[in-house]
This record gives sequence, C-alpha cells and structure tokens, in this order.
Amino acid sequence: MYRAILTIGFVALASCPAGLCIAQASAAADAAGHVTVIRARALIDGTSAQPRANAQILIRGNRIAEVYTAGARPAPAGAQVIDLGAATLLPGLIDCHTHIFLQGEVPAAGGYDVQLLKFPASYRVARAIVAARRALEQGFTTIRDVETEGAGYGDVGVKQAINEGYIPGPRMFVVTRAISTTGGYNLEGYAPEIAVPKGAQLIDGPVEARKAAREQLDHGADWIKVYMTHRSWVDEQGALVSQPTLTVEELRAIVDEAHGWHRKVACHAYNGIGLQRALDGGCDSIEHGLEISDAQIAQMVRQGTWLVPTLAVYYYDHEPPDTPGGKRDRKRVAVHGVSFQKALRAGVKIAFGTDVGGFVWTDPIAQEFEREVEFGMTPMQAIQSATSRAAELLDMSAQLGRIAPGAYADLVAVESDPLTDIAALKNVSFVMKDGVVFKAP
Ligand SMILES: [Zn+2]
Repeated sequence: MYRAILTIGFVALASCPAGLCIAQASAAADAAGHVTVIRARALIDGTSAQPRANAQILIRGNRIAEVYTAGARPAPAGAQVIDLGAATLLPGLIDCHTHIFLQGEVPAAGGYDVQLLKFPASYRVARAIVAARRALEQGFTTIRDVETEGAGYGDVGVKQAINEGYIPGPRMFVVTRAISTTGGYNLEGYAPEIAVPKGAQLIDGPVEARKAAREQLDHGADWIKVYMTHRSWVDEQGALVSQPTLTVEELRAIVDEAHGWHRKVACHAYNGIGLQRALDGGCDSIEHGLEISDAQIAQMVRQGTWLVPTLAVYYYDHEPPDTPGGKRDRKRVAVHGVSFQKALRAGVKIAFGTDVGGFVWTDPIAQEFEREVEFGMTPMQAIQSATSRAAELLDMSAQLGRIAPGAYADLVAVESDPLTDIAALKNVSFVMKDGVVFKAP
C-alpha cells in the first residue's frame, strides 16, 4: 500500500501534498484494478515439488488471478507486462521469527540493556522502521515479529503505518510485549533497590498470565509469545541446561485465552523442563528448540506442534571458548543441528525463522536457508519452509506463501536457480508486495 512513495517506475502518480496523497493514491490504484502480467524462465510456486518452466502470472489489483504457460494467449489489453527474463520467480518469502526492535546488539555498543535504558522510544521506532524496510528489500514480504523487547506496543503502530502506506514494509504478524516470569527476562543484574525496565511482560501465576494475554490481545497482538526457558549454561557433565520459567498451569491459561481469540502461542524454548512444559501446556510453535529429545519430537508430531528453528543466529558472536558463556555458545550450535535433523526426519512441521535483529539487519536474512540445507532439507523443502509451510503456521495458506489464484500478489525473483544454489536467495532482484512492485532489476 506504499505505492505512492516507492513504486519504481511502474505506476505514475500525480504530485500531491505529502501524506494526503498516499491513502488516496492507494485507494485509486486498487479501484482501477491494475492488471499486471509477469513472466520468467522458471516459477517455484511454493507448494509443487518441481518448478514450472515459462510460466506467466496474471495479477488483478493485489491478487493473483491466473498462472499459465507463456504464449498460451495474449496479455489482456492495458495490462502492464513485466518480463524478468532468465530469473526464477517465487512467492514472497516469510520469516516467522524476527525482531524489528533489535539491532544485533553487540556488547561493545552497550549490548541489549542500552536499548531499554538509554534510547528514546522514538529512536527505537525509527530503527524498527528501517528494519522493516530491510526485510522487504530482501524479499521477505511477510514477517511474524516476535516481540518488541521493551518497546511496548511499538510493533502494532509500525504494522499500522505499513498497512496504511506511510512506510514500506512487509505484512506483519505481531506479538507485542511477550510474556515471561519473575527472574525470567532481562534486564537483570542491577541492584535490587533499583527498578529497571524489563524486555517482556513478567507474570506469576495463572491469573496474571491470563491477564497479560488479554491485555496484549486487546492491544493488537496477532500472536502471543511466551518465554518458556531463560538462562542457559553447560553443566559439569557437559550438558546444555536451560532454566524453565512458566509452569504448565501458567502457560495453559495463556494458550486457553489465545485460542479463544483464535490466536496462537509461540514458545521460546531451548530444551529440557521448559520445552516439556511448553509442549504439555499446548503451545503452537516451539521457537529455537535447540535440543529436543526423541520423546519430545514424538509429542510434537502427535500434537502438530510447529518448530521454528532459527539455526543461523547461533553462529554469531561466540564468547571466548574457555568462559562459561563461550562453552554455552558452542554447545548450542553443537546440539541444534542434530535436533533439527531428527525433527525433520520425524516429520515435525518446520517453518522458516531467523531471529534477525538478534543479528544485524544489514546481514542477509536468507543465510538461514543455507543452514536448513546443511542440516538436511532439500532446497525445495527450505523454500517451502519460508513460503507455503510458513503460511500454514500463520493460518494464511490460501493467501500467502504460494503462487496460485486467489493469493496475494506477493512475489520475488532471483537471477540464478535457487534449487542448485540456495544462496541465490540472498540476492533477490525483484520484489512485489500486494500487487505493487517495490524493487525491480
Ligand atoms: Zn527471538
């Protein structure tokens, strides 16, 4: 809906006072039922096992109307034709685990704490807006942004501004503040006499848990995010240990409330007791799942629980190897790939997520695809994890993550074949969102 400010050459707009024209232009373009035809050498539709050669996509307004073989019939009169030549077209990509309010905090730059203690909310929102634009530039036309890290309901406003066409960005599913317990989230390590802000809404007991979920849903949360584990370390035996946070009863109150609103619950969980409580409490997606036992994998298959692994982020910024933090950082990587492979083999539903924001927004979000393939997905499975599978997680299967009639016209293209080189997805040359071209070769 940001066509008035960002469309590249395709939709001409008369000049008008800034702001005023944006909503008007969007409405006008929608009403006109702009018809576009896009063709490319190959098309990966998000659901089929094989790509389709020489396909052509007919788009009316912001929806895909038809997919057919090029040359089968002439383009409709007045249609704008976009020929992407030898490129490969795919559905707009979906990242199910982002943080537009994080900027890859490094300790040297003040780390996480400075975000909450020293930065004005307006500064954090400004950077979140840049992050949202970065997602779209990289071909991620939809994100599930899983908490604002102390920036309150800032994600709700950014999403609204994107949807109303004031700023460019992906479709957003937002969780607002996220939920953990006392002792279960940053900021911490300050004198007990000093009240410091927390990066999540802290609750104790099922009553507070339900109240927090209600507040967040009331203020615009599309999903609820819960931290089921917090601190982690390597014990004397060399095992990864993570501190559990919410009880099963607390989580059940949240899940019950969210499901009543027809919303879902994402649970950050590394392993062990916290991950078990997440599954027993009925969570809908396990985030990270660094070390999932065979029994837990079986339970996930049985319950239809999703896994959003976020593999790539754990390769960043390891502390020195001989420190507790350094040992932990290396152990996380060591167990994660194994866990992912086991889950994949067992048929756990896996959706693409990166934790970008945990690393800087200038790095390629699509590096996660390479890790998925490294740990056993075929390139097509990896692509589907960020298209049709991710859409399924979001309950948007008919609308997102596929190139098929009725779906939103969210499309990306890459110049080389991602099925032979998955890293090609790091260089998206064409991005269309909602039927409007945002980036073109
Ligand atoms: Zn995260």
